[in-house]
Amino acid sequence: MTLITSNQTPLLGLSLTKLTEWVQQQGQPTYRGKQLYQWIYQKGAKSFADITVFSKQWREKIGDFPIGRSVIHHRSVAPDATVKYLLQLSDGNIIETVGIPTHKRLTVCVSSQVGCPIACDFCATGKGGFTRNLEAHEIIDQALTVQEDFERRVSHIVFMGMGEPLLNSKNVLSAVRSLNQDVGIGQRWITISTVGIRDRIRQLAQHKLQVTLAVSLHASNQRLRESLIPNAKSYPLADLIAECREYVKATKRRISFEYILLTGFNDLPGHAKELAKKLRGFQCHVNLIPYNPISEVDYQRPTQEQIKNFANALEEQNIAVSIRYSRGLEADAACGQLRGSRI
Ligand code: SAH
Repeated sequence: MTLITSNQTPLLGLSLTKLTEWVQQQGQPTYRGKQLYQWIYQKGAKSFADITVFSKQWREKIGDFPIGRSVIHHRSVAPDATVKYLLQLSDGNIIETVGIPTHKRLTVCVSSQVGCPIACDFCATGKGGFTRNLEAHEIIDQALTVQEDFERRVSHIVFMGMGEPLLNSKNVLSAVRSLNQDVGIGQRWITISTVGIRDRIRQLAQHKLQVTLAVSLHASNQRLRESLIPNAKSYPLADLIAECREYVKATKRRISFEYILLTGFNDLPGHAKELAKKLRGFQCHVNLIPYNPISEVDYQRPTQEQIKNFANALEEQNIAVSIRYSRGLEADAACGQLRGSRI
């Protein structure tokens, strides 16, 4: 007898053990579990019809039981070979995913929510509001889609697409498990980027993962941060930094602080000094992100010289710094430009 309920949970995201249990429930021999696992995670099966190793009879019986894959609704390639995908989910919602290739790496920038409720002033995603959290399979699917499209293994994942991952911790963590164990991406090459949600960084530390945590600081003081990030009001910078210090102590992992550079707003020498003072003695690193323009606001991206000056000012204070020159700018695929539409 085939057990199919009306509320079918997709199979993508299940471990080998869980898939084996599932095939057994369907009255199939145990070894089918391993086959299903390989077809879902390695051979890109999008439906049971694709799994030709299964008997025609069983495939017809199982019908359209969901594996949990999305459909590529649109794909655009930037001159730097970054590819932006609009993926259509089973309920019709559209999310964005970005594939960023280099010689050695293939990084996928994944979304964790449809839209985002945080609404940072400089970010296109927040301007469109929030619809819902993504399910774990909808996150894993993004990595598989890019992997198949590039015909190359994904090496890195960054949760820097649409949404705030720590407002969807349960599904994000379950996706991280599967991306690591089933898709085969090393935990150290998975980065979760968060604006900082009270207690969630502390909770993340308890999972004892090897993933990298990136925290979007963007300002050197509370007043400035509040003007950019609405939820900074209820979760002050001092509390956020204190929670980050606890995280480093508990996990022994370095944190990466993201800092957007907005000309004349948060990129002056005084800001660098103020920031360095707050981060003194901290096992961390600051990743500067020159602002990527969006149409709704008129912040300016600093010049190359201004960017270098800010980086130097931090380095002089013994803070480790890197500059993120976002890829995919021309395809509106860069940090903060993802809005779930073609324009
Ligand atoms: N919600 C997560 C992930 C956001 S996207 C977070 O806040 O960290 C990843 C990074 O891009 C964040 O640091 C985000 O603040 C930054 N970002 C958003 N809009 C941007 C823009 N227009 N230009 C440059 N970086 C931007």
